[in-house]
Amino acid sequence: MSAALEAVHLNGQTLRITLDGARIGAITPVAGPAQAVILPLPVDPHVHLDKTHVIDRCPPAAPGLFGAIAAIMADVPNWTADDLRARAERGMREAWANGFRAIRTHVDWPAAQAPLSWSVLGEVAQDWAGRITLQRAALTALDTLGDPAIGPQIAAEVARTGGVLGCFIYRNDDLAAKLARVFDLARAHDLWLDFHVDEGLDTEATGFDAIVAQTARHGMGGRVLCGHACSLGTRPEADVARVMAQAAQAGVALTILPTSNGWLQDNSPGRSPRLRGMAPMQELRAAGVAVLLGADNVRDPFYPYGSYDALDIYRQAVLGQHLAPADWLDTITAAPARALGLPEARIAPGEAADFLLIAVPDWAEAISLPRAARQVFRAGALQPER
Ligand SMILES: [Zn+2]
Repeated sequence: MSAALEAVHLNGQTLRITLDGARIGAITPVAGPAQAVILPLPVDPHVHLDKTHVIDRCPPAAPGLFGAIAAIMADVPNWTADDLRARAERGMREAWANGFRAIRTHVDWPAAQAPLSWSVLGEVAQDWAGRITLQRAALTALDTLGDPAIGPQIAAEVARTGGVLGCFIYRNDDLAAKLARVFDLARAHDLWLDFHVDEGLDTEATGFDAIVAQTARHGMGGRVLCGHACSLGTRPEADVARVMAQAAQAGVALTILPTSNGWLQDNSPGRSPRLRGMAPMQELRAAGVAVLLGADNVRDPFYPYGSYDALDIYRQAVLGQHLAPADWLDTITAAPARALGLPEARIAPGEAADFLLIAVPDWAEAISLPRAARQVFRAGALQPER
């Protein structure tokens, strides 16, 4: 079967793109304005499918990150296999409808033994194999993962089950020594690492710097991903410039989470926020750091809204970080693919015909018109709407 897409905007050009079955055929420039923008199917490097879709049963009693943590802890007794599976499946169906090709979910892992959610999400990953690649990253407190009596058991089980090792770091006592043990575990088991780090605006939150130093020391560039690093937006600029250059050199990538951080940071009852809660994307990219965007939480106490939609996250980032809309599309496509160790998808002859098509002439209109018609193509076929 052969079909053609007329007048598609890509990298500043108007193109005619033919589809040759499941692959992209010829791409030829054409005259005149474009009628649609095209994007390789997005990748989300940072979600929480174990927590998703619980907001109606555990609304937080207090604002901010720690109010959300208290609310989710109160809901954990409800996390049976059926409950976890139903909520994660709902999230995956939304991600599928919105065109994702790959996702990494963090999974709370509070003690030595693997939680039930780890195996349930492993089953969900199996069920979705061939449609959406689903990776799992363990999310343990640094004090637990860095405990020599517990950390090795977690690392061994994560390695045995094909996961990514990770932990939550925020101004921990004895941070450097605990983090060094986490890196030793990763080296011993040949694991990739993914951190929740410095998720707060305290200028003394410098866990990101310690991760960068350990990554350089172990030569683990390309295999270490951080999320949040909100305090890069509040710390002294000279310190931030120094650590950004070191992160680029070491090969540490950083995921920005515009919805959850915009929601949770500088959040006090009866008072409007003054700070944005995000690490500075423009400076990070200028320094050479790989910058990614993720949804983080969807419909839970950390962020009560959202629906696994990369274009919604992208729009929030464009507005919150003053980005040129056509210049940062790799933050939801190629950059997260690389950080997750996946092949990069491209719009080029011979590549898989997997892409989003939005009925607007350019990316400024795509930001302006969130209700513009959007089509998902997988293997050259138009995906039916939900
Ligand atoms: Zn997260």
